[in-house]
Amino acid sequence: MDQSAVDQQRRAPDALVSYVFPIYNEEGNIGVLYREMQQVVRDLGHRVEFVFVNDGSTDASLDILLAIAAHDARVRVIDFARNYGHQIAVTAGIDAAVGDAVVIMDADLQDPPEVSAELVREWENGWDVVYAQRRSRRDTAFKRITAALYYRLLAGLSEIDIPRDTGDFRLIDAKVAGQLRRYGEHDRFLRGMVAEIGYRQKAVLFDRHERHAGTTGYPLRTMIRFAADGIMGFSSKPLQLISRIGTSMAILALVGIVYALVRRIVYPDAVVSGWTFTIIAVLFVGGVQTLMTGIIGSYVGRIYTEAKGRPLYGVRAQYGVPTRAIAPTG
Ligand code: UDP
Ligand code: MG
Repeated sequence: MDQSAVDQQRRAPDALVSYVFPIYNEEGNIGVLYREMQQVVRDLGHRVEFVFVNDGSTDASLDILLAIAAHDARVRVIDFARNYGHQIAVTAGIDAAVGDAVVIMDADLQDPPEVSAELVREWENGWDVVYAQRRSRRDTAFKRITAALYYRLLAGLSEIDIPRDTGDFRLIDAKVAGQLRRYGEHDRFLRGMVAEIGYRQKAVLFDRHERHAGTTGYPLRTMIRFAADGIMGFSSKPLQLISRIGTSMAILALVGIVYALVRRIVYPDAVVSGWTFTIIAVLFVGGVQTLMTGIIGSYVGRIYTEAKGRPLYGVRAQYGVPTRAIAPTG
């Protein structure tokens, strides 16, 4: 099929756009989100479905979702058996989505609903991955600084080109979603996986808002773990770093030995002094070795997780049917 035929198909009113929302304790946001989305999808000119993945919320999120699903056939709810984390929730949403395009958005209104319409426009123009790139963000200074440093580190380490200042807010074409479904890895870093898949990718700039209500579901510990998934999932450079550090330390040791020998020969009577130096040297070597073992351990742990081959998630119940199964109305 040539490109203009693809564009034609994407512009057709019966083209279906799936929205995927991961939900973890978002009782204060779902209502507003759903309301704002109504306006956006009215102007979209496509059929839509909303796939909400309830990731083991402990508040009233599920009840609110079910109430919405009860009167809107476009709404589907996937209720997880427990909390599996944001990346897995998004994965389940993509797995379930049946649209010609899939939009992934946070449910806390940090990703502005109206920007999703811009993503759809670029998809109609022929782009297969349209990611929303932050022009600015309203987060704590700590988060902004660590994120900026992290994305620069990741760019330096990883073997693929992961766009800076992007989260998971993006649109992917059905064929990208299909390819993504074949990625079975457990420690998921979706933005990296999408970058690796390729296709025609396009950035749309936007200003990221503050969280509307509630608190972040990403405590620091989870954030660090996620950051490590990004680096280790897309780079083996930390492992190469180990041999580099090892080599440098061996060279340093050699210099020390030669120095000690020469001193011994030139001044045979000199007293060997320097407890402090000995202890520092021992602690230094011990510390570096432990760190290096830790790096290896992080990779081994991830290999172990993959080796067990457990399912990515468990679903307690599903509500609603895929929009494709419903006859299109005018
Ligand atoms: N989320 C989830 N499972 C979790 C944590 C978060 O599904 O274990 C959802 C959350 O409801 C939101 C999105 O993932 O829609 C982003 O989470 P959050 O806003 O807490 O992260 P932050 O924006 O602070 O990085
Ligand atoms: Mg958020």
